[in-house]
Amino acid sequence: MDFLAAYPAPMLFIPIIVFGLIAGSFLNVVILRWNTGMSIAKGRSACFSCGAPLRWYELIPVASFIIQRGACRRCGAKISWQYPLVEVSAAAAFAAAALRVPEAFSNPLSFASFVLVAALLCFYIVIVAYDLRHKIIPDFFSYAAAFISLGLIGMEWAMTGNIDPYRAIAGLALFLFFWFFWKISKGRWMGLGDGKLALSIGWALGLSQGISALLLSFWIGAAVSLAAMAFQRLSRKSAALGMRSEIPFGPFLVIGFLIVFLWGIDAQAILSHLAV
Ligand SMILES: [Zn+2]
Repeated sequence: MDFLAAYPAPMLFIPIIVFGLIAGSFLNVVILRWNTGMSIAKGRSACFSCGAPLRWYELIPVASFIIQRGACRRCGAKISWQYPLVEVSAAAAFAAAALRVPEAFSNPLSFASFVLVAALLCFYIVIVAYDLRHKIIPDFFSYAAAFISLGLIGMEWAMTGNIDPYRAIAGLALFLFFWFFWKISKGRWMGLGDGKLALSIGWALGLSQGISALLLSFWIGAAVSLAAMAFQRLSRKSAALGMRSEIPFGPFLVIGFLIVFLWGIDAQAILSHLAV
């Protein structure tokens, strides 16, 4: 992905953000209903506490949450912060896609790339929220994201007539990295779910940027894990935190991806900083 060649007109961001908010409220439904046997397409949203079906004015992204001060209008039960956070994240994802895909609204192929990037970011929102809730990443989400990233490679081929060979192997290369540690530790250090998530990261970013995203996610993940362990020791809530901590790694992979995606950092940039 090249650096932004042309920003969309500022007015265009109003529909982009509105569309993102609406997409976000759908993502909330997916996160909550996935693997529960409930239909994602059918069934009205209802309060989890009193079961009353929600009216249209209780389903307005972000606004309903603020107006109702984060509580159900009937029974007063607290509404999860997940709802507004996912909705705002999805709006930000659509805006970021519009900024990072060059000339996103000037020709059909660029627009298709914008749609694919926005969809990829939406899957990452679902993956982060689901991993935080359930400490697992459903294969479907990771494979769908990988498929979208391959679609982005296809778009680049359609627009430029060639494919970066390193990018073509990047998804599998990052996956094999995780697979290697999964294999030698017999699954004790990490699950394979993170490796499946890395497929889409590699194919979306290419090899150099993909490795950078991986490095950043390990560093940030290690820093947060150490801080969490120190905090737990101080508060003496749990005596021992094992090698495989309770902190899911998926969100750190997405954070690493986002830093690289938004600022275009590659491995060379990271290595040159380390050398200084
Ligand atoms: Zn209620």
